[in-house]
Amino acid sequence: QWIFLSGEFVTKQEAAISVYDHGFLYGDGVFEGIRAYEGNIFKLDEHLDRLYDSAKSVMLDIPYDKEELEQIIAETIRKNELESAYIRVVVSRGVGDLGLNPVSCSEPRLVVIAEALSLFPKELYERGVRLASVASRRNRPDVLSPQVKSLNYLNNILVKLEANQAGVDEALMLNDQGYVTEGSADNVFIVKNGKIYTPPVYLGALEGITRNAIIDIARELDYEMVEQPFTRHDVYVADEVFLTGTAAEVIAAVEVDKRMIGDGKPGTITNHLLSEFRKITTTDGYT
Ligand code: PLP
Repeated sequence: QWIFLSGEFVTKQEAAISVYDHGFLYGDGVFEGIRAYEGNIFKLDEHLDRLYDSAKSVMLDIPYDKEELEQIIAETIRKNELESAYIRVVVSRGVGDLGLNPVSCSEPRLVVIAEALSLFPKELYERGVRLASVASRRNRPDVLSPQVKSLNYLNNILVKLEANQAGVDEALMLNDQGYVTEGSADNVFIVKNGKIYTPPVYLGALEGITRNAIIDIARELDYEMVEQPFTRHDVYVADEVFLTGTAAEVIAAVEVDKRMIGDGKPGTITNHLLSEFRKITTTDGYT
């Protein structure tokens, strides 16, 4: 396996970062998770835009422009002889001294990893996942925007730990007002009486690229699709609940805080959106 590490391809065994890298010491850096489907890098422009926006927000200069990075990502996939892949792009502040001040870091580091997709088990899509709402919250938007995919994902890790402890597959996160925002690494949708709802991102959710693709698909299919705040109660009484994300694509949730959703099986609208989503994964992006 070949990994792009600051200007060259190295093997997985050689791909190492200094213990003085501020990405390691402080979580100072940004990342993206991207997928390629049969040679098509899905929504690559959107992922690159988000990566550069994340970097700009934390004053990190990515040492390549978007076209160069596009080439590097494509080359990483080619070099690993992959068609379908999960791609992780990481930019860290780079090596500095032990103080947290980023001015001591000489140059940002870019890492691109492309791996064969480890698909979620098919059975999970057929059965649906169980969710539990958790106490942990994301960063306050006025401090570190949830739109920044920073290497400091500890809040989300706490969220995942809470879900593990509750014995469920994924967490449902709320904001300080108690409105539902998202999962630990996915966005959330509910369906009620044929209408589809997802929280507006200003409540504190990442503007997921899969989320936006699903909103577009839902509107094209003439579903009524609304971005509107909702609470846990609305989730409990929904006809369908599903999550979206680069890794999970579209996956039904059939139980939330021990309440069965609908008839406890993935819903028809969820399945419809998933099948339409899969149709665009090989065409909408960079080939
Ligand atoms: N929410 C969070 C906190 C995430 O980290 C992710 C993953 O990237 C998502 C939602 C889903 O976003 P996307 O569809 O762009 O992968």
